[in-house]
Amino acid sequence: MAFLIDGKKISAQIKDELKIEVAKLKSEGTEVKLAVIQVGNDPASSVYVGNKKKACAYIGIESLAYELPEDTSEIELLALIDQLNRRRDVNGILVQLPLPAQINEKHVIEAITPLKDVDGFHPQNVGALVTGEDGFVSCTPAGIIQLLKRSGIDVDGKECVVVGRSNIVGKPMAILLLRENGTVTVCHSHTKDLKEVCKRADILVAAIGKPKFFNREYVREGAVVIDVGIHRDENNKLCGDVDREDVMDIVSAITPVPGGVGPMTIAMLMYNCVEAVRLQKAER
Ligand code: NDP
Repeated sequence: MAFLIDGKKISAQIKDELKIEVAKLKSEGTEVKLAVIQVGNDPASSVYVGNKKKACAYIGIESLAYELPEDTSEIELLALIDQLNRRRDVNGILVQLPLPAQINEKHVIEAITPLKDVDGFHPQNVGALVTGEDGFVSCTPAGIIQLLKRSGIDVDGKECVVVGRSNIVGKPMAILLLRENGTVTVCHSHTKDLKEVCKRADILVAAIGKPKFFNREYVREGAVVIDVGIHRDENNKLCGDVDREDVMDIVSAITPVPGGVGPMTIAMLMYNCVEAVRLQKAER
């Protein structure tokens, strides 16, 4: 029977550890502060922003909320980021994506000073990840590494297959698995014989954004499967990129959807906010 990797429990552990750390920082006179910017009122973004604020409140991180109208110009948003970059009391800056069409996401990501880029999207942080230097790591893949470590799953020497090569999930995931000494293959929409490549995996990370795409034909007996996707199925129930029912009897461990990777993303964002204090102290 497959072992369910409990993202709810592990994310709660991480948040509790951070709560203690934040209280300690406070007792030493250091507050942790995150600025959260939302442009427009896309309902999904509002839910994500609300969850981030809730996590901040639980841990003791102060969140500054900026809710800007849908027609905000790029210049206005960049001006706010510039102001927050300069504020010594603000440790992290997060701009909720996606942004309205008139704003270029790349310009926004590059405008956030790398030392406050708690999403880990700035090219300088991406470069630091690749070269193994200090910096912020994209939250979802960083959370997956924590799920593996805290579930006692060793990556060292394992055949790891990551399906998806986005800048926020697939690519940083591949680098992190490499850092843990995995043998890593990255697949995408041009990969030939995807089933065969996936079947080589001891650890399969599914991050393509297609509901229940990966069935047992893609999974080797005893593999660990990490399901990054989040969707609603035909019955409006949450599901992932993996057809969990179909693979359940052959995998050794799997992340459920919901309750697997999802909760880890916010926990790692909180981790990055605390890490920001450390990195900023080292810089000053
Ligand atoms: P993107 O759409 O940015 O990237 C999808 C990737 O999958 C691309 O690299 C694409 O290849 C590849 N792909 C698409 N179809 C196929 C296919 N049939 N075979 C092989 N590769 C394919 O998605 P994200 O990385 O942003 O997200 C992936 C999933 O993870 C989504 O469901 C998203 O909702 C979820 N997600 C969940 C998070 C969480 O907290 N749980 C956080 C972030 C994302 P190509 O590059 O060739 O186009």
